[in-house]
Amino acid sequence: MNDAGTARREAIATALAEVEHRIAAACAVAGRSRDEVTLIAVTKTYPASDVRVLAGLGVRHIGENRDQEAADKAHECADLPLTWHFVGQLQTNKARSVAGYADVVHSVDRPRLVEALGREAVRAGRRITCLIQVALDGEPARGGVGPAGAPALADMIAATEGLVLGGVMAVAPLGADPGPAFAELRSVSRAVRAAHPGATAISAGMSQDLDQAIAHGATHVRVGTALLGRRTPFVR
Ligand SMILES: *Cc1c(COP(=O)(O)O)cnc(C)c1O
Repeated sequence: MNDAGTARREAIATALAEVEHRIAAACAVAGRSRDEVTLIAVTKTYPASDVRVLAGLGVRHIGENRDQEAADKAHECADLPLTWHFVGQLQTNKARSVAGYADVVHSVDRPRLVEALGREAVRAGRRITCLIQVALDGEPARGGVGPAGAPALADMIAATEGLVLGGVMAVAPLGADPGPAFAELRSVSRAVRAAHPGATAISAGMSQDLDQAIAHGATHVRVGTALLGRRTPFVR
């Protein structure tokens, strides 16, 4: 590896150690075991070479939020033992592409998307784990079904061939204390698990609020900035 590559590797290793430390500390405070929480490294806007560095440091879960970028990176990194998580808003017409590489889709929020993902998963001969994205802020522009709509969507996913119901996901409201939102997500998770006990995943928490998310039962944290640095503004 050249000097720039070595420096990048060291920077990511240092950041990963800090994130791991935060996760471990939050688990300890919550009386939870570290292995109850999965770290997903969100690599959007960063190159496949960073995915390779993360994989070399032991990270096994990668998150992306735009289909074309995700498809390219998953292809470039096909030799690595990685689980790919699609975490962005998803248009129905992208379901075929996403079904080609995603193991988990965190942004399932409407019946038409369930149908499309099921159809494309069957077509590709794959099984896709679906998390129901829950809107906790009444801001539908960011995606998500309202808390009251989650159980019906859960039933639909569970009944769809090619799909596995994994649990729930949310993004905390901007500019507010995330604690109440994460507590509400946990209660939505309970409602879903009443009918689907295996749907245990709670995907919540990002660079800024992963600690609070873990306090409120998150099983998956999605971390970008704290691992890879601040993204260029206006690039989603
Ligand atoms: C970008 C993104 C993340 C990671 O956010 P950071 O603040 O960079 O850690 C997590 N979840 C979703 C849905 C994202 O789009």
